[in-house]
Amino acid sequence: MSKYNIDDIRKKLKSKSGKFNDPDEFKPPKADSTTDPIKFRFYVLGPVMAGEKLKSGVVSDDSGMEQFFVSHGNHWVNNRPHPCPRTWDNTECDVCQTGFDLLKEEKEENARKAIINAWMPSSYHMINIYFPNNKVNPEELRGTVKFFNAPKSVLDIMTATLMRDDAGDSEDPQAFGVFFDETSSFLFQLEVLKQGKNNSYKTSGFLANGGKPTPIAKDKDGKADDNKIKKILFNRHDLVSKIEKPDQDKISRLAKSMLNGDDYDDDNGGFDKDENKSSKSTNESKDKKEEKEPESDEGDSLIDEGPLDDEGPLDDDDIIDDSDDQKSKSDDQKSKSDDQKSKSNDSSDSSDSSDDSDDSDDDDDSDLDSLLDQLDDDDDD
Ligand SMILES: [Zn+2]
Repeated sequence: MSKYNIDDIRKKLKSKSGKFNDPDEFKPPKADSTTDPIKFRFYVLGPVMAGEKLKSGVVSDDSGMEQFFVSHGNHWVNNRPHPCPRTWDNTECDVCQTGFDLLKEEKEENARKAIINAWMPSSYHMINIYFPNNKVNPEELRGTVKFFNAPKSVLDIMTATLMRDDAGDSEDPQAFGVFFDETSSFLFQLEVLKQGKNNSYKTSGFLANGGKPTPIAKDKDGKADDNKIKKILFNRHDLVSKIEKPDQDKISRLAKSMLNGDDYDDDNGGFDKDENKSSKSTNESKDKKEEKEPESDEGDSLIDEGPLDDEGPLDDDDIIDDSDDQKSKSDDQKSKSDDQKSKSNDSSDSSDSSDDSDDSDDDDDSDLDSLLDQLDDDDDD
């Protein structure tokens, strides 16, 4: 046994910023095909409640989740994440507010996009996910519980399913209802395609399984395997505790320095200095990439990441479940036609004059829409 505590070391690696080097995080790889998606299948797990006992310890009173996801956001400025108070708990954020103010005065679309890029946060929706022993999944993921910072496009697909009361048309049944209920769940198929320079997930969706929800783990008779389910839930991650909480003072100072054009990353008054010190050296090489793609789309981590030794496959006795393959074939068809559409939207991507102008993947666009909605709301006040 090593004299070093691997858990402690890993904890310290964590950048506390929504952009972790966290071995518990699942990061989809960077797709390089616009037609042939990289696929993963997982179950979304239910919210972690205050007082629950998890592998990582008892969930504290302020770490309980109200939903199956936890939303948080970062303002990315000079490659550094700054947690956004508005995204976290709807409190005031000087950076967002400045962005909204600028947007009110700007009507030209490209200029508006530039403002949004500079002033608006990237938002993430953290969920706990369980990768069953399914042949679609890479071997090292099978049987593991990870967390995933889902982009808005993925969350939207999930919430649309939540809103459906039943499977609908028996000719073409759909997943519906509380898909994260461990006893009656639907398997989510994440499809990663390349769109522009980024990943697109818009062809992803739940596998309908004939409109019949199933337990996330089954025994030989196809009934819920309670012991295994318990184990899976015990391995969920305390998501709230993984998020760095926003600091109003720091955000105010950040907004000011952005407006003044200060380079606050230099030694001007120690802004964020202590915080960044420890993580700087480990993050430095990644910073450049993160600048353009803060949406956790980096593709390098799957291989590095490997499962934790003490958290490998939960059980080996799970028969590889490929019964859904038939279902997913029609999804494949669908994704191909979707892709044709997305390709035609991609034509603006050929210009390489500006790095900022061509990173508008669908996630950005949906973020943009919701931001503009919020702006409209603000106008009404
Ligand atoms: Zn903000």
